[in-house]
Amino acid sequence: MAYLGNPGRTLAVLEKYNFSFRKNFGQNFLIDDHILTKIVDAADITKDDMVLEIGPGIGTMTQYLCERAKRVVAVEIDRALIPVLEDTLSEYDNVTVINEDILKVNLHKLAEEYNDGKPFAVVANLPYYITTPIIMELFESHVPVKSITVMVQKEVAERMQTGPGSKDYGALSLAVAYYSKAEVVTVVSPNCFIPRPKVESSVIRLNVYDKPPVEVNDEAFLFAIIRASFNQRRKTLMNGLSNAGIPGVTKEKVRDALIKMDKPETVRGETFTLEEFALLSNLLN
Ligand code: SAM
Repeated sequence: MAYLGNPGRTLAVLEKYNFSFRKNFGQNFLIDDHILTKIVDAADITKDDMVLEIGPGIGTMTQYLCERAKRVVAVEIDRALIPVLEDTLSEYDNVTVINEDILKVNLHKLAEEYNDGKPFAVVANLPYYITTPIIMELFESHVPVKSITVMVQKEVAERMQTGPGSKDYGALSLAVAYYSKAEVVTVVSPNCFIPRPKVESSVIRLNVYDKPPVEVNDEAFLFAIIRASFNQRRKTLMNGLSNAGIPGVTKEKVRDALIKMDKPETVRGETFTLEEFALLSNLLN
C-alpha cells in the first residue's frame, strides 16, 4: 500500500534517516495523497507500462506508480536517499532505483533494458532548477516516450502552453507545441510540499506526438532559428537572426524569406506561430 502521501509519515521517515534537505537538488517532497492520486490518474498508467520517475525523493510517488505500472525505473541523484528508498520501496518487486544525474543517463539504453525499446511514460515531481533541460532532453533525444506528466512551477507550465502575443511565449512554448499536445491537469499549492516552495506549481501532461504537426527539413535548424529569435526579443527578427551567427543565414536571405512570407522587415519573432517558424526555417535552409 502507498502510505507515504501525508505529512506525519513523511516526517517520520525523514527523522528515522536524519535526512537534511538539499536546496541545490530542488528537494520539495509531496505530502498530499489527493494530489499524488491526481498525478498518477492523469498519467493514465496501466500494468503494461514502464514508467520513468525522475527524482523519487523518499519514494512517495514511486509507491503509487509501483502499484499501477508494470515496471518503474526511478533515477535519483542524491546518494543519501538511496537507503531510504530501499526501505520505503521494499514491498515492491517491480522497481529499480538508479543513483545518477538524470541528465547523464542514456535514456535509449534505459528504454532497451527495461522496456524492450518500446515507448515509456515519464512521471515526476521535477527538480525545478533543471525543468527545461530535462524536458528538452526528453524531446530532442527522440527517446521512445509516449507521455510526460510532471509537476513544474506554475509559470513554467504557462510558458509551455502559451502562443504568440503573450510575454511568456518563447522557445520552450514552441518546443512543447512541436513535440507534444499539452494539457494542465491541476494547480498545486505550496502547502502540499515539505519544505514549502516559494511559488505555486502545476501538473502538466504532454502527450508526445508520433509525428510533429509541421514538416521541416531540418529540426536542429528550426530550433536554432527559434532560439536566435527569442534571444534578442527587442530586436526585429531580421536583425536577431542575421546577428546570431547561424551558418548561411544572412540579412539578405532573411529579407527574401520574409518577402516570400508576406511579412514586413520590422516583424518580431514573438509574433510568429510554429507554422510560420517552420516555413521560415525551410525557406532559409
Ligand atoms: N518525487 C519526490 C516527491 O514528489 O516527493 C521528490 C521530488 S523533489 C521536487 C525532486 C527530486 O529530484 C529530489 O529527490 C532530488 O534529489 C531529485 N533530483 C534533483 N536533481 C536531480 C537530477 N539531476 N537527477 C536525478 N534526480 C534529481
